[in-house]
Amino acid sequence: MRVPVLAGNWKMYMTPTESQSMIDQLIPLIEDLQNRKVVLCPPYTSLSVLSKAIEGSPIQLGAQNMYPVDEGAFTGEVSPKMLQALQCSYVIIGHSERRQYFGETDSSVAEKTLKALQYNLTPIVCVGETLEQREEKLTEPTIEIQIRKGLAPLVAGQFEKVIIAYEPVWAIGTGRTASPEDAQDVCAFIRTIVASIAGDEAQKVPILYGGSVKPENIKELMSQPDIDGALVGGASLKAESFARIVRFE
Ligand code: PGA
Repeated sequence: MRVPVLAGNWKMYMTPTESQSMIDQLIPLIEDLQNRKVVLCPPYTSLSVLSKAIEGSPIQLGAQNMYPVDEGAFTGEVSPKMLQALQCSYVIIGHSERRQYFGETDSSVAEKTLKALQYNLTPIVCVGETLEQREEKLTEPTIEIQIRKGLAPLVAGQFEKVIIAYEPVWAIGTGRTASPEDAQDVCAFIRTIVASIAGDEAQKVPILYGGSVKPENIKELMSQPDIDGALVGGASLKAESFARIVRFE
């Protein structure tokens, strides 16, 4: 029922020229695939190049952040209206690097999630515990608060338009992946929380795992019942490895 979503988060990598070359290599490797949603989230500066390059391909475009205002005097920011004009259909909200280095909070996540939906952008809302929180057995309460606050302004009918990415902070860029069973447990817990807020809509919400996803672990992660896809950082930068992830090979 839930189509697998494989999203690449390029973070602050890839110039427009590098982006063009990556996408030219990627498209032929995944063009024939059915039953997948493939999303690339490059830096803002590569959105324009990619929006042209993906035309007619199965790849969809996303941004890594946005400022939740239509337009205005906000130097250095990019609005959902601008993302929409570049054919973006997704936007990552509240990635742990944004929370850690740029002061994002559950309330900014809530504001951005609502605004993204108003612009028909699918928010990929990121949640996850730090190593300290995991060691103190605070994984579930931490994630519950992030979800309840992050989705607080949404009303019935909006929840099913959201994607949630479970990214344990200790697994991001470290080569340490959560075991498929641990990842499944937390993703199932996330679905329970979403169901307590949104009822049956929770069954439609794709829940992704993120944190050192690579071709070697994608198949096992995807075989878990509550893991509906992956948010991939490092391994999404190379066409060959991202294609293998998208193909579950
Ligand atoms: P990683 O990053 O795959 O490089 O661990 C994942 C992410 O931060 O979205």
